[in-house]
Amino acid sequence: MNARPRVAVIGAGISGLACALTLERHGIFPDIFEQRHRSGETFPHVGGILQLLNRPVKDQVAYLHQKLGLPIRPLARLQKVVMHAPNASGTVTGNLGYLFLRGQDEGSVESQLSSLLQSPVRYNCRADWRELSGKYDFVVVADGTDQAPRTLGLWQEIISTWVRGAAVLGDFDPHTLLMWLNTSYCRHGYAYLTPFSRRRASLVLIVTDSNADEAEEMWRLFWKVEKLPYQEVESFSLPHTSGYCYPPQVGNVLLVGNAGGFMEPFLGFGLMGALKSGFLAGLAIAQGTPYTALTAGLRRQILQALSYRRLLNSLSDAHFNVLVKLLAAPPLKQLIYHTNIDIFKYGALTLDLIERLTQKIRPRNRRMPVP
Ligand SMILES: Cc1cc2nc3c(=O)[nH]c(=O)nc-3n(C[C@H](O)[C@H](O)[C@H](O)COP(=O)(O)OP(=O)(O)OC[C@H]3O[C@@H](n4cnc5c(N)ncnc54)[C@H](O)[C@@H]3O)c2cc1C
Repeated sequence: MNARPRVAVIGAGISGLACALTLERHGIFPDIFEQRHRSGETFPHVGGILQLLNRPVKDQVAYLHQKLGLPIRPLARLQKVVMHAPNASGTVTGNLGYLFLRGQDEGSVESQLSSLLQSPVRYNCRADWRELSGKYDFVVVADGTDQAPRTLGLWQEIISTWVRGAAVLGDFDPHTLLMWLNTSYCRHGYAYLTPFSRRRASLVLIVTDSNADEAEEMWRLFWKVEKLPYQEVESFSLPHTSGYCYPPQVGNVLLVGNAGGFMEPFLGFGLMGALKSGFLAGLAIAQGTPYTALTAGLRRQILQALSYRRLLNSLSDAHFNVLVKLLAAPPLKQLIYHTNIDIFKYGALTLDLIERLTQKIRPRNRRMPVP
């Protein structure tokens, strides 16, 4: 193989762009294929990186810049989360993370990453990883789908959801995220509102085990039950399946982002997993390090998130009421939001232990392969 390997990146979404930028920093200029005419979903929305889910890192924007070489400007700091269950509400405040613009607009994460790239992206060009794997030293599949890992027999589906969302107009605090838990309209999913600005926000409903028609019905019910005072201006509806993929590399094919199962199945937005896996794929190729080993820590985080996800799947509205009250209760609030303890990790270990201890008395989900 040449000193500088030939690399193809399929997909100029966030994981593909993070990978390409990392390769470029190591003097490797990949061929990037993107089926759309530019990067990002055709509709704008606002995603986040929650500090709680990414501890012990204190500042995720600084971490992305300093450790991953990805200088991404957020829309705003997240300073308040208001949680609503059917009969309870709770508020937490603090340095809770960041909100980011997603999509094709100027300032979106996709546009910011694209503008840092030196290699040209071949837009309007749909690529086939099987064909390219015979032509390049490495093929990075960053297409945001489970097609490649399914074909390779590496995919285990975890949760199937339908995402119904819209841009809405109203009065918003740009630093506040609103969230709703209610089985009547989300089943075991959730809904959230993340502001673009004081006047405009992204409203998203995630319904488990659903389809487009059902999600539409649930969307209408959500607005009715919560008496939402907003005006819907731009809507979208799409399926979203979370899965676990192991190993994320077969031969010269590396799977990143959603294609590698680097998702955030519990109250995440999929941003950190996609960026980190793209970065690690670039590093693995540039340094000749095994990608599967490099991504072991990321997979452990996903398994932690899955423990919580399983918990969410077993809760009723009565549980949600208690949970929201608990999360906003002063002693727990102090421990969770005003320290930097990795609550998420220790909580997941506890949940896993409880699950192991109780597995003799109730059926449990299939265990994932150890990373
Ligand atoms: C409202 C909303 C909420 C979400 N919530 C979550 C969440 O909670 N947790 C989570 O994990 N994820 C979530 N996601 C998904 C999240 O955005 C993704 O995790 C993230 O974008 C993954 O990045 P990616 O690079 O893997 O894929 P993408 O950003 O989807 O990029 C893939 C790119 O590849 C291109 N492409 C596809 N096939 C080809 C081909 N054959 N040739 C060339 N180009 C191709 C596509 O056009 C696209 O640009 C959410 C998405 C939306 C819209």
